[in-house]
Amino acid sequence: MVIKNVSLDIVCGITSKLPDTGRPEVAFAGKSNVGKSSLINSLVNRKALARTSAQPGKTQTINFYNINESIYLVDLPGYGYAKVPQSEKEKWGKMIERYLHTSKVLKAVFLLVDIRHDPSANDKMMYDWVVHNGYNPIIIATKMDKLKRSQIQKNLKAIKTGLNLRPGSIMIPFSAETKQGRDEIWALIDELTGQ
Ligand code: GDP
Repeated sequence: MVIKNVSLDIVCGITSKLPDTGRPEVAFAGKSNVGKSSLINSLVNRKALARTSAQPGKTQTINFYNINESIYLVDLPGYGYAKVPQSEKEKWGKMIERYLHTSKVLKAVFLLVDIRHDPSANDKMMYDWVVHNGYNPIIIATKMDKLKRSQIQKNLKAIKTGLNLRPGSIMIPFSAETKQGRDEIWALIDELTGQ
């Protein structure tokens, strides 16, 4: 995809009605600090369109980024903030579930995990949950520049085992620093959204 224009079109809070955009959407999920904002900024060639390092407790939203008036990248709220009250987590869980359930145009869910670590309980829950909602998540293993080349395959394997990935699942290592993996992710998005 050649990015001609990009804008943050729709921001949904917890009580917002979810939009019916009518254009293909792909969504991004992951625990806070995993590098989701950095990935989105890298995909759209912007330094700070998506906020990086959002503070715990900051208002969480579902953000719809309009790409070239043809598709939407959907930034789901990061999970795993220890400081967020349980009641708030549950509300967001329901909101994300509602989105996964109701979007008629959602083509794929990308789940981000940090390539350095075994998946957390929350990562596993999110993976199972997305599967339960009928999608086969595409795994993006972030911050690959933080590993030695020789460690990458070993860690990818640990993530595969940790999440108990379904056979044939796609996993892409990515670095926002070097942009490694970016073209591969765009090629997938293009394919999935029929661009
Ligand atoms: P988010 O909370 O998931 O949106 O995570 P951010 O994109 O804000 O990233 C969290 C922190 O990790 C920031 O300090 C980023 O600079 C850093 N970070 C994100 N992606 C990468 C990456 O690919 N490589 C490195 N070295 N740091 C990264």
